[in-house]
Amino acid sequence: MVSTNRLCHAIAVQAIYEAHMKVPRSPARGAALTAALALGLLLPSLAYEQGLTYEPQQGESAGSSVQEQMPPAPDHPKTKVKRAKAKAKAATAPRPAQPLQNASDAANAPAQCTGREDVLGTSRTIAIGAPNGLEVGLKTYPRTLKLEDHEVILTFDDGPLPETTGKVLDALKAECVKATFFLIGQHAAANPQLVKRQIREGHTVGHHTWSHPSITMRGLSDEAARADIAKGIAADEHAGYADPAPADKPHVPFFRFPGFADTKPLLSWLGSQKIAVFGADLWASDWLEMTPEAELKLIMSRLDEAKRGIVLFHDSRPSTAAMLPDFLRELKARNYRVVHIEPGENAPDLEEAKPGWTSETEATVGRVMSKLLSRAKTESARAKKPEAQ
Ligand SMILES: [Zn+2]
Repeated sequence: MVSTNRLCHAIAVQAIYEAHMKVPRSPARGAALTAALALGLLLPSLAYEQGLTYEPQQGESAGSSVQEQMPPAPDHPKTKVKRAKAKAKAATAPRPAQPLQNASDAANAPAQCTGREDVLGTSRTIAIGAPNGLEVGLKTYPRTLKLEDHEVILTFDDGPLPETTGKVLDALKAECVKATFFLIGQHAAANPQLVKRQIREGHTVGHHTWSHPSITMRGLSDEAARADIAKGIAADEHAGYADPAPADKPHVPFFRFPGFADTKPLLSWLGSQKIAVFGADLWASDWLEMTPEAELKLIMSRLDEAKRGIVLFHDSRPSTAAMLPDFLRELKARNYRVVHIEPGENAPDLEEAKPGWTSETEATVGRVMSKLLSRAKTESARAKKPEAQ
């Protein structure tokens, strides 16, 4: 029950974002918002009673409604041993190269994609390093990656899930498009074949915590948040690579915070490990229930307004999987070009936000978190004084 509430709350947090964005009014939007707000009030009081510390639990998961039907992801009994060995090795070794992403896939991809005019394709690749830390994405940070007009970077969160991620990969493959996936570690552990496929097909596989807790990283102690992030990276590594790297030196040092709810200590911790933090410049609001047609219309209208940027989707969402083939065709029809990102050594070219910029996600996360915590406090106090009621 608590687990379900926490799951639902993740949707609530994201849906509440929507109240602050320009989404066409629709019955679906109204219903989703009402439901999300109502569910948000079913606060996971247990989390508060536990001091908001993270204790991995079987079946604990969050991030999308699809996950509520997912079986609990198995743990990795061998992870500790392998990581310990890898850590010893990593003390002197540089960050591992990208053997699967670059070398072996380069052999496959060009034969099917090079020179093809009938597909969208991938126009260029930016190598991204974070020697001094890096935070990009205008929804959260006052800077983003420097792109030309009509250049987009496609990112997908919360997978991989068997119901939807394969369809997303099929659509990308059909158009020779490379994207970036931010994985939930539990899902990677449960679906390693999908992680391997993502890497084999040349996509970049970044990280998005182990459990995607509905109270976000901000609702956990710093120690618990670090543990959840590291566990997620380790799970992604073990799922995807024959030579899993330690969590502080992953093959792909890219990370996205669930709900964009970062903290200063976590940002500086990630920065100290040269792990780049990605927000987004625009999104499809695909956490809301909508038809694939409505989602396509919404993202294209936002893209035509923004003209470029890092786009956030969820490969866990059926509507996104269903609309993706049309979306990619529409990008080609409107002369958009897809830019791929992959790990590199140097800091990338950045574009600063326009004067007057404010963080859209910070305003919402702050408001939602304060409501969550005060509600948790009230419920905790009530639980301690049952005789008073
Ligand atoms: Zn997420």
